[in-house]
Amino acid sequence: MGLTGLDIYKQLPKKNCGECGPPTCLAFAMALASGKAALESCPYVSDAAKENLGAASAPPIRLVKIGTAPNEVAIGDETVIFRHDKTFFHETGVAILVGSDLDDAALDAKIAKINDLKFERVGLKYTVNLVAIKQVGGGADEYAAFVKKVADKTSLALILMTDSADAMGKAAEAVAARKPLLYGATVENLDAMLALAKKHTVPLTIHGKDLDETAALAEKASAAGVKDVILDAGQRETAKVLVALTQCRRLAIKKKFRPLGFPTIAVTSEEDPLAEIVQASVYVAKYASIVVIKTDVKEQVLPLLTLRQNVYTDPQKPIQVEAKLNAVGAATTDSPVYVTTNFSLTYYTVEGEVSASKIPAWILSVGTDGTSVLTAWAAGKFTSESIAAAVKSSGVEEKVGHRNIIIPGYVAVLSGKLGELTGWKVLVGPREAAGIPAFAKQRFSA
Ligand code: SF4
Repeated sequence: MGLTGLDIYKQLPKKNCGECGPPTCLAFAMALASGKAALESCPYVSDAAKENLGAASAPPIRLVKIGTAPNEVAIGDETVIFRHDKTFFHETGVAILVGSDLDDAALDAKIAKINDLKFERVGLKYTVNLVAIKQVGGGADEYAAFVKKVADKTSLALILMTDSADAMGKAAEAVAARKPLLYGATVENLDAMLALAKKHTVPLTIHGKDLDETAALAEKASAAGVKDVILDAGQRETAKVLVALTQCRRLAIKKKFRPLGFPTIAVTSEEDPLAEIVQASVYVAKYASIVVIKTDVKEQVLPLLTLRQNVYTDPQKPIQVEAKLNAVGAATTDSPVYVTTNFSLTYYTVEGEVSASKIPAWILSVGTDGTSVLTAWAAGKFTSESIAAAVKSSGVEEKVGHRNIIIPGYVAVLSGKLGELTGWKVLVGPREAAGIPAFAKQRFSA
């Protein structure tokens, strides 16, 4: 159990100088107790207090890193249960499972597919993060050789999955420089796996038969000096995994229960790829730090990564595109000019529909701090004045020979004043972006 704010306060210097951020030592102690401040912020803490408060001032869920730059995967360090309480910081790492029984040709094909799992959505690029190499038959030397082959074919971070300490030792040796995650410490092999994690300074997954056993093993790991631990609560049924992951998160954050204050890993059990993605989606939503899946099919992996992107987008910082004039297709001086906001989802929806209309056009994205059309309008950020200013600063007046501008149907009310401010003819477009192709065809084709 973590220390209370008052326990912490007793060990602070009580200068009430405010240099740490909060105005008083007591306020700082409360922030520290709730995981919202770091002990280092106070320059006057004594060494004795630092030692006593070290655990209390640590984040409720430890930050653990796997792999090496530029493909290092950072997980954990979360401070809230619900994203809207603040934000989630480190998105779930998605790992693709590879069995060590693949022959060379099958392995080449598999890794090529994994390396190709790259996507772009709302202007952001994203990929899967890890390859989980599971020992399937064969001896320790064969497994180590297979792991080395995989490492040579991909730069993604690696998870070594075996409960044989012998095989793990040889495989870890072969790819130690890649700082892999060792998956496979159980009650039977804990000491040998701890020794390997210490030897190579790599993180270790602890796998108990239930949450109690997992917590006990994690405590032993901490006592042995292995701090970078990842928890597998030992379940495989979706509902039981969900319960275990939720309990881990709640106990770590609400109760400061240190044995469960580590990132988590969940391995899917469904064989049907679509059922597997649904299962993995549950784990991404709550609260797996890594999810291991079998499918490597692009159209199956895409929805999982899309969900992850949505869950891990900071709700206080919408994804934005640059506020500027954009050409869609081979836009010319005669092409129509659409106006929208710089909220990524809005912009790319409009861009997709303009593109689908097959009539090249310009899109002027107006800076609205990444808010959508109606939200920006209600907040006074998408106004006749802001659009007129964007028209002036974007250079659109030099790019087109006409003086017609299309605004979203939802803000038709802006048309009169916008016309006055710009001298342009304002056309009211469809309310929804889905109406753009028909609108464009009717107005601009031929
Ligand atoms: S910096 Fe230290 S001494 Fe000053 S108010 Fe904060 S906790 Fe107290």
